[in-house]
Amino acid sequence: MSILRNTPTSPLPEFEYTIDVAVIGAGACGLTAALAARDAGADVLVFERDKRPWGSTSMSLGAVCGVGSKEQQRHGIADSAATFVADVMAKTEQRADPRLARLIGERSGGVLDWLNETHQVPLLLDAKWTGLGHSARRLHIPPGRNGEELLALLLNACARAGAEVVTEATVTALYADESNRIVGLRVERPGGVIENIGCGAVVLATCGFGGNEAMIAEHIPEMRHARYFGHEGNRGDGILWGLELGAAAADMTAYQGLGTLADPQQIVVPHPLMIEGGFLVNIEGKRFTHELANISGMCVPVLQQPEGRAWVIFDERRHQACLEHSVEQRQLAEVGAIKRADDWATLEQLCGLPAGSLAAENAAIDAARSADREDHLGRSFKDLAPLQAPFCAVRVTGALFHTQGGLCINERAQVVRADDSPLPNLYAGGGAARSISGPAVTGYLPAVGLSMAITLGAIAGHAAASHRISA
Ligand SMILES: Cc1cc2nc3c(=O)[nH]c(=O)nc-3n(C[C@H](O)[C@H](O)[C@H](O)COP(=O)(O)OP(=O)(O)OC[C@H]3O[C@@H](n4cnc5c(N)ncnc54)[C@H](O)[C@@H]3O)c2cc1C
Repeated sequence: MSILRNTPTSPLPEFEYTIDVAVIGAGACGLTAALAARDAGADVLVFERDKRPWGSTSMSLGAVCGVGSKEQQRHGIADSAATFVADVMAKTEQRADPRLARLIGERSGGVLDWLNETHQVPLLLDAKWTGLGHSARRLHIPPGRNGEELLALLLNACARAGAEVVTEATVTALYADESNRIVGLRVERPGGVIENIGCGAVVLATCGFGGNEAMIAEHIPEMRHARYFGHEGNRGDGILWGLELGAAAADMTAYQGLGTLADPQQIVVPHPLMIEGGFLVNIEGKRFTHELANISGMCVPVLQQPEGRAWVIFDERRHQACLEHSVEQRQLAEVGAIKRADDWATLEQLCGLPAGSLAAENAAIDAARSADREDHLGRSFKDLAPLQAPFCAVRVTGALFHTQGGLCINERAQVVRADDSPLPNLYAGGGAARSISGPAVTGYLPAVGLSMAITLGAIAGHAAASHRISA
């Protein structure tokens, strides 16, 4: 991955053809950028390293945070950019970039409306997810409630709009002139075939660096031995190109983690199980964390437990309720990840937990609920029905989902240097750009990842179209 320049010994190659906007990466960010660039009249190509576009977008739950959407209005939800910024700043202990948070707060709802109305990508307000740092209901989700469907909807929209996605096309270098303007890309195709393509502007939609072990070791050493449960092809290429061109990067220590990845099945255990009253114990049968305090940050206490493992404990009633809306819960059932018993003693045995441990933790929760007080971990189970037999358990571990640090951008999603001056024609969004999670794992607000991808993708694609060579 490098920046190549015109030198006497190594002149720039002849480009086979030139397009207005080159988008690198076919996840939510890249595909939304392509749609926006097309709408603005540009010719656009999306280059994707995989044979079939997948990305972290397909692995996600597909929930997108959007502020001020028509969907919110239809459901009578009062929300505003100011409320969103306040939520982001509270979640990150005032350490996120407020300018970026405001940009997402002001633009995300309109971008979701545009996707729905112009490109038939419906994202519906979700009634299940509330709280967890969002003071208004603002999570939007595709009808089938998963990221794979979201990506398919975006791919179909690109096909209709004439934004071609070139697969098995790994961009291995950018060609730049002396002013750091990108003039073309080097693309590696199957069999080592190299294609050199000229362009008017580039959108970096290559996501973060979760798949780059060296970068994880450098920036997020606490997760260097943890499982990475994002897309392997996200190796920080866009961030590395930006840095080589003199751009600034920020919050490189931040990431979205998860403490409840089924082990060994590698399926995300739906959080509503815990929101509705489930709890976590370690392999010694002891609770160790407030399960709702921080979804992303929970990976840290889970990984600190013996063997880095824990059990999610819930009941059959909650399992059935979750089955109705969660693909993951169905998958957990199908692969036999859920242990089930008619009493605590049998469940303890099935899970290899000390006798009496689950019964004791459940009794402590019941006692706190009856006394109308928080438990010893500061969690309140008030208004949540006690767990009832049959009881269920899934073994989990902590994992790194995706990184939150990246290239600094301005309001046009244009990549900037440390003094805020923009690089001439380089744009970034999604995981390639700095997010609004501050510098720590605890700052991630649910559904912000896809919001950064879609909102910034739309802004970047539209702005990149202004560099049309055909104009
Ligand atoms: C299990 C899981 C669940 C999640 N759930 C949610 C959720 O519900 N809501 C939410 O907001 N966020 C969620 N996230 C985070 C969310 O998935 C990401 O924030 C989002 O998908 C990022 O989109 P993107 O377009 O930037 O990256 P991606 O979707 O990862 O796309 C990047 C693409 O770039 C390609 N690429 C990289 N380098 C090159 C190169 N050099 N040449 C060509 N192609 C390249 C990759 O192959 C990849 O296809 C979740 C993440 C995970 C892992």
